[in-house]
Order: sequence, then C-alpha cells, then structure tokens
Amino acid sequence: MKFFYLSSKPNQEGNFEIHERDCESIPGSLDRDYLGPFNNGPEAMRKAQELNPMASLCPTCCSNTFHSVFFKERNPN
Ligand SMILES: [Zn+2]
Repeated sequence: MKFFYLSSKPNQEGNFEIHERDCESIPGSLDRDYLGPFNNGPEAMRKAQELNPMASLCPTCCSNTFHSVFFKERNPN
C-alpha cells in the first residue's frame, strides 16, 4: 500500500495531480487533500475522480505503474 494525495491546485494543463506521499513533486500540506492508501496510481485515480473530475496521475511518481498514453486518450485536449 502507498499513501496518495490529490493536489488542490491545478497544474499548467489545468489538471489536479495525484501524488504518492514520497513524491518529490508533491505540493505542500496546504495544497493537497489526502486520498487514502491504494495499491497503485490507477486505484487512487478512481477515488480522486469522484472528488475532482480533473484529477490526473503525476508523471513523476505514478507513471511507472501505468502508461501515460491512457490518460492522453481519455483527455484528448
Ligand atoms: Zn508525484
């Protein structure tokens, strides 16, 4: 299990990134919401999208468990 957080501030693309607790790119404690423990990024994604449809996986900490092309297809813009 890893602990995941959802950024409460959008990135340059207007998406709200999901990070593992240990990610070097994670926002400060005031700029993120705790999602909970999950096995991997896609599971955290499912929960995050209930909270924020603009949620997306951080390419730094989540790309090793899931290929980013999937999200480009889901978000063609
Ligand atoms: Zn990250």
